[in-house]
Amino acid sequence: MKYQSTREQLLDTVIKANEVDLIRMSAGNISTRTADGLVAITPSGVKYRNMSIEDISIVDLDGNLVEGLKPSSETPMHTAIYRNLPDVGSICHTHSTYAITFAMLGDEIPMVNLELLVCGAPIPVAPWASPGTPKAGEVTVEIFKDRPELKVILLRKHGLVAIGANLDHAFDMAFNAEVGFQSYYQALLLGKPEPITDEQFAEVKAAYNL
Ligand SMILES: [Zn+2]
Repeated sequence: MKYQSTREQLLDTVIKANEVDLIRMSAGNISTRTADGLVAITPSGVKYRNMSIEDISIVDLDGNLVEGLKPSSETPMHTAIYRNLPDVGSICHTHSTYAITFAMLGDEIPMVNLELLVCGAPIPVAPWASPGTPKAGEVTVEIFKDRPELKVILLRKHGLVAIGANLDHAFDMAFNAEVGFQSYYQALLLGKPEPITDEQFAEVKAAYNL
């Protein structure tokens, strides 16, 4: 089958995301570039536990279907990111609980733990854009272009979008962000979380060659 290994890697990532509750039922979507410049993306409305590799949609950079089932309704956001940010190889978009929670509040999330540090915190909340519209792509592209170190953005009242060089990287960013948000939420309930200082940030960067 054409794009077999890309499709297999994408399905593996979806299953992994489902196992850790980043993606539930059919909410959220994951995509990756193919070797020939197209995009493999999860199909629209298919519950991930029932998905097979043939179902995965292959679209061009304008979102036109090339193969597979009807692509995710949120394909315009993915293709806008790929068209405008050539270094992005894969995208993981989730409606995970703590991402939605903070996305409803609108305040950026400070760098308060290592999970958010690796995502490029502070994590901004994009201006409102309805899912499924080209505007959802425009608002995220604008922020990612301005902040090359940033790997995760909260989508207002919606969820998060994580970018990476490949599927593992994009998944790791989404996972780290959700863990970072959950920990921050819990710390807010208990007291006043301390941000990571510039000095601490420099130490971590030096230790891990970030
Ligand atoms: Zn969404």
